[in-house]
Amino acid sequence: MPAISVELGGVVYASKVAATEAIRSVYKRCEGEVIVPGHDDWLFLLSLFLRHPDAYVKSNGTVSSFVVKIGLGGSLGCYVNHFTDFSYKKCLGSKPSVLNDLSAAMRKAVVAQVVDFRDSNFIELMNCELCGQPISRDDLHIDHVKPFREIRDSFLNADHYPVPVVFDRSGEGVVFLSDDWQFSRAWCLFHLGEAVLRCVHSACNLSRR
Ligand SMILES: [Zn+2]
Repeated sequence: MPAISVELGGVVYASKVAATEAIRSVYKRCEGEVIVPGHDDWLFLLSLFLRHPDAYVKSNGTVSSFVVKIGLGGSLGCYVNHFTDFSYKKCLGSKPSVLNDLSAAMRKAVVAQVVDFRDSNFIELMNCELCGQPISRDDLHIDHVKPFREIRDSFLNADHYPVPVVFDRSGEGVVFLSDDWQFSRAWCLFHLGEAVLRCVHSACNLSRR
């Protein structure tokens, strides 16, 4: 079986063993610290925690901080929101579903901006910004010049409201709960300021990935 790669804090580790090594070294250098947005290791710990199968219960719905300290068992561990420890092994054992949901909700929250851009910029048979050939509405894709995930990560790393861990799935797709409107609003404003969009072919967009 091929090794399963693990992405943490925007870095892809080739195997669980490599990820474990990285986790241990982050724990070591963060010992005794409170890690909040803006800290060099915040995104790493956030993306680690968001892989935990019980992230919602452990965090009580949102994530504001991590602390790395020696636990009752005598080994170095990480605590979410100061008080609740979690096992990094469990984080490596499951799919990163909460992070995927968070990304999906963040994408959904800015759909209106993307649609606005399309409606005010797209002209039938304008040229694709990637290949230079004409695009029709059927094969149009609105692309982020700076990749969406980079914008997402810089927002998650900025100082703002607690990061939501639970989402509304009652309608179409994954969206933020109404309780998380402050996070959602801050994200929409950030995206509006940061995102540079362009019109490309769907196929050209796919081949870029
Ligand atoms: Zn193209």
